[in-house]
Amino acid sequence: MSFDDRPERYPFREIEAKWQAVWEDTQQFKVTEDRSRPKYYCLEMFPYPSGRIHMGHVRVYAIGDLLARFKWMRGFNVLHPMGWDAFGLPAENAAIDNGVHPAVWTHENIENMRTQLRRMGISYDWDRELATCDPVYYRWEQLVFIRMFERGLAYKKRSTVNWCPSCQTILANEQVEAGRCWRCDSEVVTKDIEGWFFKITDYAEELLEWCERLPGWPERVMTMQRNWIGRSEGAEFDLPVVGRSDVTLAIFTTRPDTSFGMTYAVLAPEHPLVESLVTDPEERQEVARFRQEVARESEIERLAADRPKRGLRLRARAINPFNGKEIPLFLADYVLMGYGTGAIMAVPGEDQRDWDFAVQYGLPIVPTVKRPPDWQETQAYTGDGVKINSGFLDGLGVAEAVRKAIDWLVAQGIGRAKINYRLRDWGISRQRYWGAPIPIVYCAACGMVPEREDRLPVVLPEDVQISGKGGSPLAEVPSFVHTRCPRCGGPARRDTDTMDTFVESSWYFLRYCSPGFDQGMFDREAAEYWMPVDQYIGGIEHAVLHLLYARFFTKVLRDLGMITADEPFTALLSQGMVIKDGAKMSKSKGNVVDPDELIRRYGADTARLFSLFAAPPEKDLDWNDRGVEGASRFLNRVWRFVTAHLDELRGAAAVASGALSEPGRLFRRTIHETIHRVTEDIERDFHFNTAISAVMELVNALTELERVSLHTVGSRERGALLREGVETVLLLLGPVCPHMTEELWSALGHEGSLFRRAWPTADAEAMARDEVQIVVQVDGRVRSRLTAGVAAPEADIREMALADGRVRPWLDGRQVAKVVVVPGRLVNIVTRG
Ligand SMILES: [Zn+2]
Ligand SMILES: [Zn+2]
Repeated sequence: MSFDDRPERYPFREIEAKWQAVWEDTQQFKVTEDRSRPKYYCLEMFPYPSGRIHMGHVRVYAIGDLLARFKWMRGFNVLHPMGWDAFGLPAENAAIDNGVHPAVWTHENIENMRTQLRRMGISYDWDRELATCDPVYYRWEQLVFIRMFERGLAYKKRSTVNWCPSCQTILANEQVEAGRCWRCDSEVVTKDIEGWFFKITDYAEELLEWCERLPGWPERVMTMQRNWIGRSEGAEFDLPVVGRSDVTLAIFTTRPDTSFGMTYAVLAPEHPLVESLVTDPEERQEVARFRQEVARESEIERLAADRPKRGLRLRARAINPFNGKEIPLFLADYVLMGYGTGAIMAVPGEDQRDWDFAVQYGLPIVPTVKRPPDWQETQAYTGDGVKINSGFLDGLGVAEAVRKAIDWLVAQGIGRAKINYRLRDWGISRQRYWGAPIPIVYCAACGMVPEREDRLPVVLPEDVQISGKGGSPLAEVPSFVHTRCPRCGGPARRDTDTMDTFVESSWYFLRYCSPGFDQGMFDREAAEYWMPVDQYIGGIEHAVLHLLYARFFTKVLRDLGMITADEPFTALLSQGMVIKDGAKMSKSKGNVVDPDELIRRYGADTARLFSLFAAPPEKDLDWNDRGVEGASRFLNRVWRFVTAHLDELRGAAAVASGALSEPGRLFRRTIHETIHRVTEDIERDFHFNTAISAVMELVNALTELERVSLHTVGSRERGALLREGVETVLLLLGPVCPHMTEELWSALGHEGSLFRRAWPTADAEAMARDEVQIVVQVDGRVRSRLTAGVAAPEADIREMALADGRVRPWLDGRQVAKVVVVPGRLVNIVTRG
């Protein structure tokens, strides 16, 4: 009987519901700090509770679950938690649109998504679930804020910030993408406003250094972080201002060797020195107008290489200390206050932006590096070469000239070597409601005072009118604003900003270690046991946002003495997007696939199998319905095969490998080669798709064995091999399709969960390829070649030769007169007709 004769589909609805209930009832995935086993902390980036899971979620959670279950089977104590990144603007916008309180909206969404995730059958320890909007969660964040405030790591300043007019809030630099809001895509403007900052710049060097010490991270992400931190070595020195001995203008340059080519200098329009450099009322007005124009540009626009630059020539002039020449001073939009000193020396010969500006404003260009012979002087030259037009630096190479220029600056007492970073402090104030309140109080007598620790949390009030009209909604809640000063007890008012939601996601992985702990942010012992996260999984879009903030926050907590880990995530897997018809799934394109619908029609195992099989995890996954059908057909095939052979499988006894026939030995080798390949693919390369196709090939080999082998393999051996093959398929497929494999595993008569079984180990002896090629002749002419074990018995080889597909046609209608076997070399079949 062939399995294809049984048309019924496997009953995934009952099976999936059944095993989800069993796992829950037996608390299969609940973990504690078991020191007898190695730990493995597997974490997928937690979702924003938008209300429904999408295919991107299915993909990332299927990857996480595969790894978690695989590690369970490899003997690890696996922490695999799930929670909700629950603060943020969409809840507030829903409140404005539908009149639902953000808390109600958020909790309803969490309910829905939890139900959906449970239907996927993921191995979460649901006892550890958390939501960041819960006061028992954010109270610890407020505590850490206070500790950071006390150490100067959290501070308030007035500054020019990115402002999203649509979200009505400040955005951190990391949250502005190509001049637009990361959340709503509105054009970002700048605004002068007071806000809170975390001093991530204090950690720039360490964050950068550790980029080299995290080999488990994708190089692409590390490069983005390195560029974002943007370390540059150079020099800082003073430019004298003509006729103004009271003023010196400090400038930063990465190319002090080019100083002789400085033909002008530029200040950021916001530079504080402008006030004292510009005294004439008329010029002051010009400056004010210019500043207004620049304020309308976003930082990204100002830094863009391919747009005209905007400048204003000042009446004041400076002196190039290297050659004593007077040079003009400009304000220009392409120089930013936040980088270096906010002023630069302009060397148009060797810097493209300076070149563009010099051409635009008709300023001289003096090259200081000898150009290659075929060089067309139509752009700045940034390559290496011999110094020219550079006084005492002439004749040197660039690197040597840099050193010598710095030595000269030091000797003159006007400058020094300096390292600069592009990274700026993290602006965390948000003028919105649905976030964690900043635990700071303003008292007329005491000034800015942190809330007392025993009065935490500062709870977000619920009776708030959310209009979206701008300004912090908390400022409109008198019962929140008016409080007592923690220091003198006098009347005081609270800070009405809330924290960036990226603060909550900077430490949630620590809270999972002991989610119920009420004596602090986390139970230290538990955190020491579980941290760092061994495998983190999430999208590349977080490369310089969450992934940088979480690294920073972990280092802060370490320096506060709360934990010893230097880094939060040992390894990171960044999965690609799920796309359909070549485009990202979106409602507006009408190409969204609803996971709920998919699971209803095909079951969770099929959805998981498809999303793991269709593409390697780091690549985009192109959705196609045929692929889903294929995954479903494969699972049905496995189901029918196993159920059709249940009696034979249950009754099978093991056969010693030495006693196997030659076809049996070859089949067993396939089993163990598959184990080897799947293990390597998962453990070493995350090549889940090729791992799955190896299992599919093993299933093919199983059906082959069943079809062709009864006359060459005895029934006892066949039963044993089928059982070993089927069990291997179920164990290897378990982490991908846990429901069906668990059901079939128990149908084979096993007690207890498949996921408490050891992952199979490849038997080196069974895999040994100690075999030879044997030529098969018919009447003296070569007709085929066989592969057989060196020790294969003569009778087996003779049997294989006669059954060989390429030999059989030559025997058609003829009688075999004689078969000569030369062991290890040749079979000659002599016929007569
Ligand atoms: Zn926005
Ligand atoms: Zn006070």
